[in-house]
Amino acid sequence: MSEISVVCVYCASSAMVGQIYFDATERLAREIVRGGISVVYGGGAIGLMGRLADTVLAEGGKITGVIPKFMDDVEWSHQRLTELVFTETMHQRKARLIENIDAVIALPGGTGTFEELFEVITLKRLGLFTKPIAILNTNNYYENLKAMLNKCVAENFMKPKHLSMWSFVDQPEDVISVLQNTPQWSKDAINFAVVRNF
Ligand code: AMP
Repeated sequence: MSEISVVCVYCASSAMVGQIYFDATERLAREIVRGGISVVYGGGAIGLMGRLADTVLAEGGKITGVIPKFMDDVEWSHQRLTELVFTETMHQRKARLIENIDAVIALPGGTGTFEELFEVITLKRLGLFTKPIAILNTNNYYENLKAMLNKCVAENFMKPKHLSMWSFVDQPEDVISVLQNTPQWSKDAINFAVVRNF
């Protein structure tokens, strides 16, 4: 069982997604605060990012935003966070988002969320990141991603054991227990990262 005190959450900046996604974000934020867990996220004020931060703060939780300076310059950052960290670049932001955290949660999102999620999965495959990763599959948003990842293994682009690098979770209320019960990932993952026939 993993101790989860700080989670990194990736999620959408879009303010135009369906109510079902905002509701799931709120439900997750409440569970996080109820669990005494603090959050690190991308620092945005709108979309699911904004709803996540607003709900965590309203529930009395702690949330740190990590945002590149150029986004703050155009006033994208949330103004009431527990802490706001500025980076120069998008790459520095992604690295800072996963420093000193115990788990990653990806909510529904767009290409920014996909990129963040795929980077952390790639690092995990190499053993450079070993923490649990949960993908919140609200409204079955990620059904095609799930199918693609399964195909990736079926066609030998990855090994079956790589499928345990992440967990798809349907309900926000189940995310924390899934993270807590995720088996430890090996730092030696680099030794089985490559698929080969010798
Ligand atoms: P997406 O999942 O494509 O909405 O991307 C989420 C990511 O997009 C965030 O981590 C940010 O890198 C970036 N982003 C896009 N728009 C905003 C915004 N208004 N505020 C903060 N970050 C944003």
